Amino acid sequence: MELSYILNELGEDRELYFNAVAPPIMQTSNFACKTVAEMREMLKHEQDVYFYSRGNNPTVTMLEKKIAALEGAEHAIAFGSGIAAVSAAVLSQVKAGDHIVCIKKPYSWTNALMNKFLPRFGVEVTMVDGTDASNYKNAIKPNTMLLYLESPNSFTFELQDIEAIVAIAKAHNCTTIIDNSFATPLNQNPIAMGVDLVVHSCTKYIGGHSDVMGGVVCGKRETINKVFVQEYMTLGAVLDPHAAWLLVRGLRTLPVRMERIAATTRKVVDYLAQHPKVGEIRYPFLETDPQYKLAQKQLRHNTGQFTITLKTDDINKVDLFCDSLKHFLMAASWGGHESLIYPVAAAYDTGNYKSSLPFTMVRFYIGLEDADYLIKDLEQAFSKL
Ligand SMILES: *Cc1c(COP(=O)(O)O)cnc(C)c1O
Repeated sequence: MELSYILNELGEDRELYFNAVAPPIMQTSNFACKTVAEMREMLKHEQDVYFYSRGNNPTVTMLEKKIAALEGAEHAIAFGSGIAAVSAAVLSQVKAGDHIVCIKKPYSWTNALMNKFLPRFGVEVTMVDGTDASNYKNAIKPNTMLLYLESPNSFTFELQDIEAIVAIAKAHNCTTIIDNSFATPLNQNPIAMGVDLVVHSCTKYIGGHSDVMGGVVCGKRETINKVFVQEYMTLGAVLDPHAAWLLVRGLRTLPVRMERIAATTRKVVDYLAQHPKVGEIRYPFLETDPQYKLAQKQLRHNTGQFTITLKTDDINKVDLFCDSLKHFLMAASWGGHESLIYPVAAAYDTGNYKSSLPFTMVRFYIGLEDADYLIKDLEQAFSKL
């Protein structure tokens, strides 16, 4: 299916709504039946009909169809947040007594799910360094049901060799789930590499404007239908129709935003790479990166997130640099129009939350501003050190 068709036409029945170009928001909780016979049919096929919006809603369906097509998946199901999608996908694959092998340093709340939440229900998790696929293999036990990937992972952007890990999973009858938020469906399609379930935080690139939250799980129709009747309907972390509408709108411009972000990020990274006050840069699209070859194989284009370390051993200098930036907002998340920084230093000296990462590390996200505008801002902040 062509990208332009997916983004502009797929799932849109314009004749049903006065040929309006933009779809309506079906802001309704329920749908009425004309006869008992009709209601009887509805109840028999609740996953395939519009009956109650905790199940299906037409605006949400439109989004699900588009994202499933973008991922090359049979089906998709949308959630109220990315972590709801991650949790539902993971919970759908395990029961008490099972074991999961998970990438080390995943997204923070995925980490909490794996290490705090699941153990309460008798699910055991081993975290592994995913840069070597054999670490997954070595961690597999007789009760391992699931291999969980996030490639590239949060903050340090390390890659896992997806095909190698899928081969290990298949040999041991394990399911695979990958968090593909970093790459977007435009830059990496793990289902084509044999992954069973692909999850996204739509809050990031898909929404693209820092004004909406959402998540999605993509996979085989049968698997997604199981998630629907189990985790989706019982935990109820549904996506609101208005949020779905904003995400459909975000999708319209995803390709142009990603192209712009890729070009700007390249310029900013090149500037930082030659800067004497910058130590390491973690960006798998940089030729000097240890995983550059794998990035070239697995990912189509570069994206806007990277991490640098500042050459200093003084945390006050890190604070000074970050505080001096005027056009990078200091905030969580990424994927919107605005460039961001997230300093690891913020996690230091705050009681029980101490990061295992060095305090000199600053995560960057490059938005839609001009490269020169951002580089000038970096320059003036470096000049303060
Ligand atoms: C933000 C994020 C999530 C969680 O998404 P929310 O929409 O914030 O719930 C999951 N995975 C990754 C990689 C993320 O960056």
